[in-house]
Amino acid sequence: MYKCLDCGNTEKFIGKAREKGCAEIYKIKGGYEWSYKVSENSWESSFTIQKCYYCNSENIIKI
Ligand SMILES: [Zn+2]
Repeated sequence: MYKCLDCGNTEKFIGKAREKGCAEIYKIKGGYEWSYKVSENSWESSFTIQKCYYCNSENIIKI
């Protein structure tokens, strides 16, 4: 799991996905960034977290 240090969000983040893995992908405003919703066990291996979905903070820690 990951956590945003600024707003406390632990549920939704913006990141990059690798080619494999199971995910639901959402295109969000602007069209340049994507949001991914994945199952717990594929999260760490398939995704690189970049920032918080809600406040755009990059202060994300792994918990
Ligand atoms: Zn946040």
